[in-house]
Amino acid sequence: MLPDELVAELESWGERKYRAAQILEWVFERRVGSYEEMTNLGKELRAKLEAAHPLQTLTVAKVQGAQDATQKFLFRLRDGRYVESVLIPANTGYDGTQSDRRTLCVSSQVGCAYDCKFCASGLAGFTRNLEADEIVEQVLLAERHAGKRIDNLVFMGMGEPLANFTRLTKALRILNAHWGLNIGARHMTVSTSGLAPQIRKLADFEIPVRLAISLHGATDEVRERIMPVNRKYPLAELFGALEYFGSRRKQKVTLEYILIEGVNDAPEHAAALVRRARAVGAKVNLIPYNTVEGLPWVRPTEAVQEAFLGVLARAGVPATLRREKGHDIDAACGQLRLQQEVAEGTVVM
Ligand code: SAH
Repeated sequence: MLPDELVAELESWGERKYRAAQILEWVFERRVGSYEEMTNLGKELRAKLEAAHPLQTLTVAKVQGAQDATQKFLFRLRDGRYVESVLIPANTGYDGTQSDRRTLCVSSQVGCAYDCKFCASGLAGFTRNLEADEIVEQVLLAERHAGKRIDNLVFMGMGEPLANFTRLTKALRILNAHWGLNIGARHMTVSTSGLAPQIRKLADFEIPVRLAISLHGATDEVRERIMPVNRKYPLAELFGALEYFGSRRKQKVTLEYILIEGVNDAPEHAAALVRRARAVGAKVNLIPYNTVEGLPWVRPTEAVQEAFLGVLARAGVPATLRREKGHDIDAACGQLRLQQEVAEGTVVM
């Protein structure tokens, strides 16, 4: 809840307004895990809060990976569904560059409706949107588990964040607020498969978060083959929205580009990407494809990856090639959750 919602709820119960500030302090400053610990609230109020608004609705079902390395959390939601978050330690930014920040990659939906042909998240289709509290709680729980503050967020977990716009922006308010998690706007990156109208809306949103586009194809022909969303929002429309975004924000947009052998990894694909990146002053993040069980795609050799990067570099387009992180812990989108739900029989493949 945002503070005014909490105040309204408490007032409707006949409680005083200042209780809201007390509760927020317990939750976000002192990081308690239960109402029991909120010792300056009466017993009766604590019980009422517990019944109406359980404080913690996610539980950690599984953790993969060692402390101080990339760790993957499988969270169980209140309805028994699962989502994943990946904690990337300081010294390695999510794009493979140096970073002194601790990054969490969070999910925005259970499953995904966009059906990108290379991605595990969409394999079992779309189940539901995450509520704002379920998005925020991924951060709180990962912090508690790691015993460290997370100061960078990327919405590159499961789901299409911009298809869950209202809840996403509510979560962003809580994550950004001084009374909340106090994570700076420039340290939150929303990634999208390219929902052009919502990109325009995000450009007008009050918190200037960073934007990343899962491009993966720099021509309609290539992109359509692997991303059905391109039929709804072809590149001309997507880049129109990016131009608008650029007119409203100072930060460069990032174009994410997975390298898939024989699909989008040839020099002419790189040249097309150069033109796209230049058109909107974007930087490029190349990601060698992570193989997904049951899908036919493979990553190109390192030589091909380097050659692709070379084309961008020679053209003066700022570009990074993601160094390998998390292949061993199934950190590619949706893999862990899929295994869990298949094992439990919640999804049938
Ligand atoms: N739906 C949003 C948010 C998910 S981000 C979006 O598309 O941007 C997840 C990122 O991981 C996307 O860039 C996606 O294209 C990429 N991805 C999905 N499967 C992958 C795989 N097997 N290997 C590497 N990257 C993958």
